[in-house]
Amino acid sequence: MSEDSLFTKIINREIPADIVYEDDQCICIKDINPQAPTHVLVIPAKPIAKLADASDEDKALLGHLMLKVGEIARTLGVEDAFRVVVNNGAGAGQQVFHLHLHILANKSFDEGSLGMR
Ligand code: 5GP
Repeated sequence: MSEDSLFTKIINREIPADIVYEDDQCICIKDINPQAPTHVLVIPAKPIAKLADASDEDKALLGHLMLKVGEIARTLGVEDAFRVVVNNGAGAGQQVFHLHLHILANKSFDEGSLGMR
């Protein structure tokens, strides 16, 4: 049996985290190494390794995550200016192989820039 991911351990309270929101399908935690004054991660309970591994059966879950992004952004008061980032694969900077959506806010984003070099 493969070991639980870091985020599954956080969901199971084996590793502490600053929890912003939780329901039966997902959890939202503050990023431990924030890249913006507001930086949280929305993580499905289902340990999908990366976005490209999601399948048709995950359609409702993916919709749920996106709706929660908006709801959490409203709760954090950043609904008018935030960026959502999903890194897919090591080559795109993914470090934790359990799908998660970054919400970044309260920093200035270059217009039209995706922060890529
Ligand atoms: P990735 O690079 O996979 O898209 O993003 C992983 C994110 O998880 C990084 O922004 C990193 O700072 C965050 N992270 C890594 N380990 C922990 C941890 O133990 N707790 C929390 N809250 N965030 C973590």
